[in-house]
Amino acid sequence: MRYLLISDIHGNLEALEKVLSLAEGKWDKALCLGDLVGYGPDPNRVIEKVRALDPVLIRGNHDRACCGQMDLSDFNQLAKMASLWTQRKLTPEHLKFLQQLPQGPLVVDWFEIFHGSWLDEDEYVVSPIEALPNLREMPSQMGLFGHTHVMGGFMLTTREKFQSIRTIPRGKKTSTIFQLEDGCRYLVNPGSVGQPRDGDWRAGFALLDGENRSVEYIRTTYDLKKTQQKMIKGGLPDLLARRLAVGR
Ligand code: ZN
Repeated sequence: MRYLLISDIHGNLEALEKVLSLAEGKWDKALCLGDLVGYGPDPNRVIEKVRALDPVLIRGNHDRACCGQMDLSDFNQLAKMASLWTQRKLTPEHLKFLQQLPQGPLVVDWFEIFHGSWLDEDEYVVSPIEALPNLREMPSQMGLFGHTHVMGGFMLTTREKFQSIRTIPRGKKTSTIFQLEDGCRYLVNPGSVGQPRDGDWRAGFALLDGENRSVEYIRTTYDLKKTQQKMIKGGLPDLLARRLAVGR
């Protein structure tokens, strides 16, 4: 089975459309790791596009925030403004759709998917401090996660050595293949489609080949200007439009 891994789309339609056109014909099942909406200008159209993929989905914190399931006091001012903006834009049907999204972790095939971490859907896995307990306690060999908007992930070798996964496309490179090995344990992050924060503004996603046990990390440019113009015209904070250009 070949899986399309998308996460943290955040209402960015142009980035999502580019990702889907590049991935066309290369996957059998789509997996979405949460945060379909929040920040970006096209929450309704992004939900429609994602639903049409018939994916396995879990909820993200912004999905919860934008459908009124979460207290916004933990959000910074920009995230709060974007959540309220999105909430006003969402159709009643899409609000209900977000409210019904399942919580991770969710077992899929021989691996699991979750938004933040296996232990806590809202946890940011950014260092060994968070990654190690999850790598050790998660029953599956691999977990797919998002939330940090940073492509890559972490692993434990057969000798229990901790490593960051650094095999990701940088500079002008658009794709890298990371080979999974028996006996190692993995936390894999496909990066963010709609608001990368790893210093690379390009949309990120991944393809998981279950048979060859490999992950292909992919970056692609998209019509960033169009997204930014829609955000500014729609009344979203300028800063949110500007951060897309720097990938922070
Ligand atoms: Zn997110």
